[in-house]
Amino acid sequence: MEKTEWRRKRVVLVPYPFQGHITPMLQLGSVLHSHCFSITVLQTNFNSLDPSDHPSFTFLTLPDGLEGLDVSLNNLLNVMSVMNANCEAPFEEHMTRMLGEEDGGEVACIIYDPFMKFVDIVADKLKVPTMQLKVNPAAYTHSMVIFLQLLQQKLIPLPESSDLNVLVPEAYPLRYKDFLMPVTQGIPEPVVEFIQTNTNVQSNAAVIWNSVESLDHWPLQQLQQRWSIPFFPVGPLHKSAQPLQTSLIKEDKACLSWLDRQSPNSVLFVSLGSLSVMDEEELINMAWGIAKSEQPFLWVLPPNLLNGSDPIDTLPQEFKEMTRERGCTVKWAPQKKVLAHTAVGGFLTHCGWNSTLEVLCEGVPLICRPSFGDHMVISRYITQEWKVGIAVEVKTEDGYERAIRTLMASEEGKMIKQRAVNL
Ligand code: UDP
Repeated sequence: MEKTEWRRKRVVLVPYPFQGHITPMLQLGSVLHSHCFSITVLQTNFNSLDPSDHPSFTFLTLPDGLEGLDVSLNNLLNVMSVMNANCEAPFEEHMTRMLGEEDGGEVACIIYDPFMKFVDIVADKLKVPTMQLKVNPAAYTHSMVIFLQLLQQKLIPLPESSDLNVLVPEAYPLRYKDFLMPVTQGIPEPVVEFIQTNTNVQSNAAVIWNSVESLDHWPLQQLQQRWSIPFFPVGPLHKSAQPLQTSLIKEDKACLSWLDRQSPNSVLFVSLGSLSVMDEEELINMAWGIAKSEQPFLWVLPPNLLNGSDPIDTLPQEFKEMTRERGCTVKWAPQKKVLAHTAVGGFLTHCGWNSTLEVLCEGVPLICRPSFGDHMVISRYITQEWKVGIAVEVKTEDGYERAIRTLMASEEGKMIKQRAVNL
């Protein structure tokens, strides 16, 4: 007999409202829905999805108080704190009502992003079990555990003159420079709190990882020894979920027809995700590096990349003319389809975890240009552990040109490509 909605147990999802966090949470929702749970998503006003794109989910709103606040990368800790302060009361109201409903389905649990700390407070009060969804690799969480440990042991900050290329013994293959914060400086209290939030799972029934046991084995094992709750590394979620519309920026699908006209494995796809920023000097260096490499390219330049002026307008006219025949620029691409396209032969990336999982599934080799957060850890795994990519060594014109030529047009590049396919 077919299971009807009213018999389904309800799972409440609370994503952190940024692209790289919303997508995997909704993908998990899709997987759970296909296993007969009903899904209620509590989303902030900021970066909210259109419920009509997800008819099988119920959406409720959390007023976040973020109107008018600077939501750029350098203010994210503040954004997080404002959101946590404002969302707690409305979340409690929604949960209390849901728990009192007779026909809405029993609430099985809340699955939340660890940045949404208020969930834990309310769930504890209302005695609803919770699980965290980690949208980063365990290698990153483990690096933060080690970072905190070094801080507590007063082994960091290191002296200014320290060589940060040295390996961290407890976190192989990471170097001191791969931690989320520079280790030769004092660590501000809000950052310590951020790390503590990310490494605290004590009140949770389990941790769900959008990660893969075989890629993230050692860090998962290390964390499992510390945290005695079940782990579910169920990634890559984009492979088990139904295709979902979770883009916060409109995708420019015309680039797919442009790709159709390119030769197999010839195009470098360039995208630094939804939050990374760079200065104008680096943008120009990157442009000339791409131009001088003489490779066809598809380049995503979202409006927030320069933290001000439009990056596409900022590109030099001479660059645009020189690359008109072999280049395509867009504000936002249908990335998963792009990476799966036979014309794409390489990916210059910021090493966001979603992008990394997506590209690994397509066997495309990478050029790493990490920005912040978990990117340095992921870049290190890509280049040193899985050996499916190279890093941009210097962010100059020559540095970009060299990296692109190595990946796209050298014997070394062919070997890296083969390893990416094998992986
Ligand atoms: N993405 C996309 N189109 C683009 C660039 C990115 O659809 O032009 C998607 C990408 O497929 C991924 C997400 O945005 O799912 C970015 O997440 P990631 O964790 O890689 O980076 P973040 O944006 O969080 O830094």
